[in-house]
Amino acid sequence: MASLVIKNLYVKVDDTIILKGLDLTISQGEVHAIMGPNGTGKSTLAYTVMGHPAYSIIEGDVLIDGESIIDLSPDERAHRGLFLAFQHAVALPGVSVANFLRSALNAKVKRENPDDKGIPIIKFRKLLKSKMDLLKMDYSFGGRYLNEGFSGGEKKRAEVLQLAVLEPRFAILDETDSGLDIDAVRIVSDGVNKLNGDDLGILVITHYQRILNYIQPQFVHVMFDGRIVESGNSELAHYLEEHEYDWVREKYAESV
Ligand code: ADP
Ligand code: MG
Repeated sequence: MASLVIKNLYVKVDDTIILKGLDLTISQGEVHAIMGPNGTGKSTLAYTVMGHPAYSIIEGDVLIDGESIIDLSPDERAHRGLFLAFQHAVALPGVSVANFLRSALNAKVKRENPDDKGIPIIKFRKLLKSKMDLLKMDYSFGGRYLNEGFSGGEKKRAEVLQLAVLEPRFAILDETDSGLDIDAVRIVSDGVNKLNGDDLGILVITHYQRILNYIQPQFVHVMFDGRIVESGNSELAHYLEEHEYDWVREKYAESV
């Protein structure tokens, strides 16, 4: 069973240090949630693990299978089995959801085996339909242009479908705090619950406690000022639901 290990990570954006010694290990088959107030560095963590050039690691490491990935391109990280949801949130007019997914899947199989001719269209359609059935999606969704005019919920639907088709080993879903209505939260949650299995490790990053009404993570972490300050099980999530984040600020604001 492989693990994604984030070790004593310090990350700087421009001249500001945002992550300040963050540790986290996610194994395949586990569902983790990171929660925390706005501006605490949650998205910074996701972007850094993806390899976004604006985020520079000044100390620490990120490893998959014991191998550091921090010098790899985002594409090579994907090849190691990493999936980041917001990677393709841009609109691609003229490219349908189905074609986009087929290209992404072909790129994946060719990376694994350069001689592979790619997945035949009929086989791909079958696969796509089975994933859409699993996620209870309307087949017409595959014909829409990716993210063009998509609602927040539809963007999430495309994201979850991508996750289902590409079958990564680790998925990081950053639920950016704006524009996610309850419908979108439910789509992500249902998708995560359906795709959750022995081969997939999931990290859901969220500001909102409400997602925990739908997802049951085994591990819940509270992030504050660039570090994970508390970790626990679903009881911690219930505590957060009741008490929100003021206690975190009070408890940890001076110590940093
Ligand atoms: P969260 O996702 O927890 O709300 P972020 O990681 O988005 O937190 O932001 C943490 C801090 O880092 C904020 O002060 C934010 O302004 C800063 N920050 C994040 N990304 C950038 C960036 N690309 N450029 C400048 N500042 C950034
Ligand atoms: Mg964020």
